[in-house]
Amino acid sequence: MTDTPIPQNLVRRTPWPEGVSRPLGSPIQPSVVFVSDSPDQLDDQYGGAVDGYTYSREGHPNADVLARKIDALEGAPEAGGGGLIVGSGMAAVSAVLLGLLKAGDHVVGGSQLYGRSLRLMREDLPRFGVGASLADPTDATTFAEALRPETKLILVELVSNPILRVADIDGIAALARERGILLAVDATFSTPRAFHPFAHGADIVIHSVTKLLAGHSDVTLGYVATRDAAHRKAIYDFAVTTGLTPSPFDCWLAERGLMTFHLRYDRAEANAKALADHLAGLPGIKRTVYPLRPDHPDQNRAVGILGERGGNMVSFELEGGRNAANALVRAMPGIAFAPTLGDIGTTLSHPASTSHRGMTAEQRSANGISEGFFRISVGVEDIDLLKRDFTQGVAATLGIRD
Ligand SMILES: *Cc1c(COP(=O)(O)O)cnc(C)c1O
Repeated sequence: MTDTPIPQNLVRRTPWPEGVSRPLGSPIQPSVVFVSDSPDQLDDQYGGAVDGYTYSREGHPNADVLARKIDALEGAPEAGGGGLIVGSGMAAVSAVLLGLLKAGDHVVGGSQLYGRSLRLMREDLPRFGVGASLADPTDATTFAEALRPETKLILVELVSNPILRVADIDGIAALARERGILLAVDATFSTPRAFHPFAHGADIVIHSVTKLLAGHSDVTLGYVATRDAAHRKAIYDFAVTTGLTPSPFDCWLAERGLMTFHLRYDRAEANAKALADHLAGLPGIKRTVYPLRPDHPDQNRAVGILGERGGNMVSFELEGGRNAANALVRAMPGIAFAPTLGDIGTTLSHPASTSHRGMTAEQRSANGISEGFFRISVGVEDIDLLKRDFTQGVAATLGIRD
């Protein structure tokens, strides 16, 4: 028996079909490695004399296309060299803290940061000899008190999770500037539609692209941009060395999601405002939290910083405890009970059983988070449908007590 010969072009050697037209949609480029013409050319690529990708852990076209779009939304300073995409929002937070700080340094974070950011500061940075303290982001004087001679960086979020307090960002930025400390802002909740941290003195801006920017709960990605190219290089080198690389397919999905970000955001925000007012009028609701409402503790600051941009997040507290909370979720099957935010559809989360379960009941209640406390990430649905769902859900809790 004679073997049929294997065609010579079976392994590579088939040129990509080129023509005069080009695809409208961005191609997905999954190639891990890129081919160069000669050692001279590769030298020129590595030296920066010519542009060219080499190995996708170090960068690839789908990440760069996505980064350029977020740069434009964010107003990332050109001097910073453009933002970086990494594999998750936490990869972005980690790359900033671990790429810029060294043993002996100290960092001050907002006391209501995203749970994993808090964990990084409390559990991981100390293992590397970096000290961390927390301060109340609504009061810049507490940051001043937390500073030490070796403090190098402050990390804050403008709008906190889940009680939606609004940071005194201008006070904190003034302090950082005066003391020569870097200010990093995780702007995931506020998004570039509502707030531009660079315009308020931030040196570094972080996003979890997973949330509103990509918007469809099908990718985890992060973004980080800097004011200064040297900081970008330190963060980039750390991210490449530790392999925080984003997948090209995820970047492609996020690019597609990002094209409608402003439309989704505007609709979700209008829905959130209307839903907050609706909830506040329902029997069985103890408290409704939305930054632009007159009963919000930071309303003045929120209006000053965000104008009309109250965002898509609403929190509320039910009368009754865990039993009422269970009844609410079961009575609203159309509202996904899922611990995320920023999806195109409305999702509901219960901090006491998810993001804040690690705290004691006393710690939670000090933070305003009871068993009846919920956070809504409002989506783009018809507002009447949302009002009906929540009316039905809250009605099912009336009279239920633990
Ligand atoms: C979700 C979130 C993160 C982490 O993002 P991932 O993409 O899930 O890693 C960081 N900061 C904030 C404010 C978030 O909401």
